[in-house]
Amino acid sequence: MSDTWHVFPVRDLTEHDIETDDCVCIPDQRAVKREDGSMGWIAVHHSLDGRELREVP
Ligand SMILES: [Zn+2]
Repeated sequence: MSDTWHVFPVRDLTEHDIETDDCVCIPDQRAVKREDGSMGWIAVHHSLDGRELREVP
């Protein structure tokens, strides 16, 4: 999965593991089409400072 792009919040309190696909924030995997027409993956990381956690019921 070394061709996965990583998107993560800047200035987050916790560092994200962008070397593997096993980050603690459990990033969303999204399929994207590259400029050459091939398919790739983007790992969308979540902030780890509690922004999303407050939305959990
Ligand atoms: Zn992450």
